[in-house]
Amino acid sequence: MAIIECPKCDSRISSQVSVCPQCGFQRDEANEEALREIHRRELRDRIYHLKMVSYGVLTLLLAAFGWYWVETDSFQYQSPMGPYVLFAAGAIAYLVIRIYLFKFDRALRRTRRR
Ligand SMILES: [Zn+2]
Repeated sequence: MAIIECPKCDSRISSQVSVCPQCGFQRDEANEEALREIHRRELRDRIYHLKMVSYGVLTLLLAAFGWYWVETDSFQYQSPMGPYVLFAAGAIAYLVIRIYLFKFDRALRRTRRR
């Protein structure tokens, strides 16, 4: 008897039971494939939205550069904080987005391999 993870709720169950005692998931090929497909679609949706957000953040970074360029061009000796703050916030947001994209991408590839 092997211990496997329920494909729906991830609790550890015996490979010999056909219904998960935790969530009532019926373990058969059609059900498991349908569940995988739902999971894949969710991951693809998240990746798509994250990519859209990351383009927005890149635009923000470009805006920070533009702002910096405009401000330093106007004979100010004290450089303004605004562009730096915007750039730092954008860079951190971009990094976080990339980390999530990497995680979702790996999860998506895992569902395909099975
Ligand atoms: Zn379950």
